[in-house]
Amino acid sequence: MRFKKAFAAAGLVAAAALVLTGCNSGSPAAPEGDGGSEPAAASTPWTVEEGVSLEGSPTFDKIQERGKVVIGVKEDQPGLGYFDNVTQERSGFDVDIARWIAASLGMDEDDIKYKAIASANREQAIVNGDVDYYVGTYSINDKRKTEIDFAGPYFITGQGLLVRQGETDFQKLEELNGKTVCSATGSTPIQNIKENFPEIDPQEFDLYSACVENLVNGQVDAVTTDQAILIGYAAQQPEKLMVTSGPVFTEEQYGVGLAKGDDVLRAHINDMFTDGGDVWTKIFDQNLGDSGITVEQPAVDAY
Ligand code: GLU
Repeated sequence: MRFKKAFAAAGLVAAAALVLTGCNSGSPAAPEGDGGSEPAAASTPWTVEEGVSLEGSPTFDKIQERGKVVIGVKEDQPGLGYFDNVTQERSGFDVDIARWIAASLGMDEDDIKYKAIASANREQAIVNGDVDYYVGTYSINDKRKTEIDFAGPYFITGQGLLVRQGETDFQKLEELNGKTVCSATGSTPIQNIKENFPEIDPQEFDLYSACVENLVNGQVDAVTTDQAILIGYAAQQPEKLMVTSGPVFTEEQYGVGLAKGDDVLRAHINDMFTDGGDVWTKIFDQNLGDSGITVEQPAVDAY
């Protein structure tokens, strides 16, 4: 609860930029029944389906054999994909999207095994079959599509900047020439800096939380990644960190990463997003409703 309130306060400025990104993101799915499955618990807007069969999906066959679904996630991104060491609870918008997909495959919370996978290792984890699918601020792009497939998009955000509280000099990437900017290895933002901002000194770590630590300690001058991620970090330490009010400078469409060629699973997840009624909105409201972000559910791109 405490987190949610802080999140709301810090997110307001950045939210304005996100609204712009959200405008072209399609319309919410039409409500539809889900065919007589069990009612969801009060806090879970999805239902665990029974008697699911996905003929022709190698991933689903593996899940059935094991009796468990293995999901790749982030666990250091508050509001999106987070594991609380104290309460041992996993939370966030992405985590709930992952749970909703599991439920659509007949798997409830006890049947889920989560694996935290850093940005740089996502494609490999999917290609190796270490995870059945991955949900964690994973931007759909053509390079990644050569190795894996994506269902979705299920969320749209854009690259922004996190700086120390009170910082007035750095509002845009252009103002950080000669300065050190941190992002995660293997991410789209670190690639953007390296390719398009040659005068910025890039610093990378496996995890964004390491970048944030270095920002607080004064080792780097800014952290860049998706604004939705940055808002969560700023909310954790509002007295030390802030998201700049500058507009987002890319469009990041989040997809569910899955094994290349598993078209049956991809279509199943896409249908779930499209026919999911108000489940997406409920998941959004529960996790990001107080953040100030006003993104609508995007239409899926069933390529
Ligand atoms: N959405 C971007 C990406 O997929 C940045 C966030 C992340 O690293 O997960 O690379």
